[in-house]
Amino acid sequence: MAINAPEGTRDLLPAEAAFWTRFKATAQDVFGRCGYQLIETPVFEQTELFVRGIGEATDVVSKEMFTTISGENLKTLVSGGTVKAKSRLSLRPEGTAGVVRAVVQHDLVPQGAAPAKLMYAGPMFRAERPQKGRQRQFNQVGIECLGAEEPSVDAEGIIMLMRFYEAVGIPRASMRLLVNSMGCEKCRPAYREAVRDFICAHAADMCEECNRRAELNPLRAFDCKNEQCAAVMEQAPKITDHLCDDCREHYETVKSYLDAASVAYVEDPTLVRGLDYYTRTVFEVQVTEGMGSQNAIGGGGRYDKLAEEVGGRPTPGFGFALGYERCVLALEAAGVAFPALPGVDVFCACVDDEARAQAFALACELRDAGLVAELDHQHRSLKSQFKLANKLGAARVVVFGPDETAQGVATVRDMATHEERPVPLDALAQVLAKPQA
Ligand code: AMP
Repeated sequence: MAINAPEGTRDLLPAEAAFWTRFKATAQDVFGRCGYQLIETPVFEQTELFVRGIGEATDVVSKEMFTTISGENLKTLVSGGTVKAKSRLSLRPEGTAGVVRAVVQHDLVPQGAAPAKLMYAGPMFRAERPQKGRQRQFNQVGIECLGAEEPSVDAEGIIMLMRFYEAVGIPRASMRLLVNSMGCEKCRPAYREAVRDFICAHAADMCEECNRRAELNPLRAFDCKNEQCAAVMEQAPKITDHLCDDCREHYETVKSYLDAASVAYVEDPTLVRGLDYYTRTVFEVQVTEGMGSQNAIGGGGRYDKLAEEVGGRPTPGFGFALGYERCVLALEAAGVAFPALPGVDVFCACVDDEARAQAFALACELRDAGLVAELDHQHRSLKSQFKLANKLGAARVVVFGPDETAQGVATVRDMATHEERPVPLDALAQVLAKPQA
């Protein structure tokens, strides 16, 4: 039986792979203009990094990580032995922890330095239940800014993300930007308690999972998909009523920068996002129609304590990640198609096998000159070589054959105008290298 791609993964076939490449290039352009530079970190890290960085009680770490093991270590485990902590590895479920680890490891933000502005693009892995817009391997593009706690960093990031979506073709009117502040280590503990007490007081009306969350991670109850829980949580205490003065001022300033840039947003005091490391600003971008429940195309926030969690000195941070596959769904919902792949410049055809070497040599010469040249590799008839040239979108076809060779020429056909003319063999490369009139 044929083997298919694993559940929850997707092949990016050539038209889409070309789009993904352009998508990343657009991100590099838009984010690069704000000073962000590309970083590449490994797709797997020590499991401990995600446990400490993302938080043990999060769904991502407790249920969804793909933990990998080498063949050698697997044998050790099976025979009852133990493997060292540094050999416990997991595929990255998100990009922030790895980037922050790299910043700490390479001391990219020495004391007093300007913030490190980094961007990444690549696959992430989560063992979630696959559905439309939710995969087990998916691509994210993200940024991290480490070393500044100013609200201008947050606003700059949010604004450039919205510019990016527009640059790839997602209509602004189809997106909703939600913002909130999650407070800091000073004001959040009291708020957490208030939410925990609220859940305990309404325990009978809430699902088992939310009752469990009350102790471990009460704020996650805001994300519960159960309708009854959602209705109860509407009455829960709001973080905005519990922010300390510093957090309130930070939040107000972020919003004032967004206002100044005319970036519309909706304040959502129930937006808490799934990962433990967020402090202060959190935000999410949703697509309003055609995406069902997986409508978040990106989000992020501030994480001022994360660097310390992974063993670095205190280094405030801000970042976001956007989901490539969800953006593709958003583009589909908006009726935007992938751009066509660029066609072939010249198809080098031959009437018979004697002329094959001439067609082959010309294709090599044209490629060296920078053109996209194709030819037949299957002994097709001239007619079916023309069919293939058409399918490949060839702008011109050059035909080599006995009649042509006898006259020292090849026939050049313009596929758009159907015009044909003989061109001397020694002038072919030069004529074809010229852009078409
Ligand atoms: P997160 O890292 O959970 O904040 O997710 C950031 C973005 O990545 C989301 O807004 C989604 O667009 C995308 N994303 C997260 N999980 C998945 C998944 N399992 N499949 C596809 N896209 C995802």
